[in-house]
Amino acid sequence: MKINSSFDSGNIEVVSTDDASNITLNIPADSNSEFKQWFHFKAHGEAGKEYGFEILNAKDCSYVDGWENYQAVASYDRQYWFRVETELTADKTLKFKHQFEQATVYFSYFEPYSYERHQNLIQVAQLSEDCEHRIIGETVDGRDMDLLVIGNESKERKIWITARQHPGETMAEWCAEGLIERLLDPTDALSRSLLEKAVFYVVPNMNVDGSYRGNLRSNAAGANLNREWQNPSLEKSPEVYHVRQTMQQTGVDAYLDLHGDEALPYVFVAGTEGVPSYSSKIKELEDEFKSILMAVNPDFQDKFGYDKDEPGKANLTVANAWVGEEFNCLSYTLEMPFKENANLPNPETGWSGERSYVLGQTLLNPLYQLIDKLR
Ligand code: ZN
Repeated sequence: MKINSSFDSGNIEVVSTDDASNITLNIPADSNSEFKQWFHFKAHGEAGKEYGFEILNAKDCSYVDGWENYQAVASYDRQYWFRVETELTADKTLKFKHQFEQATVYFSYFEPYSYERHQNLIQVAQLSEDCEHRIIGETVDGRDMDLLVIGNESKERKIWITARQHPGETMAEWCAEGLIERLLDPTDALSRSLLEKAVFYVVPNMNVDGSYRGNLRSNAAGANLNREWQNPSLEKSPEVYHVRQTMQQTGVDAYLDLHGDEALPYVFVAGTEGVPSYSSKIKELEDEFKSILMAVNPDFQDKFGYDKDEPGKANLTVANAWVGEEFNCLSYTLEMPFKENANLPNPETGWSGERSYVLGQTLLNPLYQLIDKLR
């Protein structure tokens, strides 16, 4: 058995491959940070043989409850990812096994979204006459911060979408891809009508360095970008610094920040009820957004989610809270599961890139219906 993670978003440390039924591994920490949970590696063995893997430091990872009822994903062709039999032992190590149909199998925490795919997304999007690509700055490692401007900037409403502040939450970029492709579909009447009234600013990957490095939550400097919105710095969190500055130039009338949650097996949103400027007007927008999204996509629900913030107690270092307060607008964090949508399970794939993509397409429905009411 040979294990390798020297590739885009690869992350694993091999302890021992001596016993094929129990190959032992550790998950290395994020760059300059204590966070750890993302793994992605290829295993090369013998076709026809069953192999077992054990992640010894699962109990020291950032979200141990993320391993409860969790199943690892695997792929032969790096396109189709399926779940494999996974168990959290009594002493909290994570074990999974798989009978290899071919010699080489890729395993990952969730279906990856590569830096190559990210760059393809940008290049293809810019071919649309409705889309302009802008580079608004550089990351810590010197990668470009890509912004897609979709629609005409003279339109009244400014909608901002950001994804993957936490780089291991790849479902967020799958979701952004669905939203972007629907917006750019010239045969989609809803998108055409929406772009009559609004311009979209989309950052499909806020943390390209962390994505490439195989981090769960941090950028290259070790910063958790979704705690940097009050005081971002060019040294530690240039990604947030540049996006925030661009938002201040354009204004924001609605904001969605796309994420994945390690523990909760549901799709849900977190709003701005704890920010000082929260009002009945924003609450009405939030309630309508949720009920429209539930009606068009039953993957979304509003029963399970985070505890609501007390009035005035929001953490304004978090993107959606900072934006909600700064621009006094509808501002949501959208969370998707790493595990499964427990309301609509698909045992073969669990929650997946494809379902995240479809969710991204349907996010346009509530925005379309609310567009005249946002201000
Ligand atoms: Zn997140």
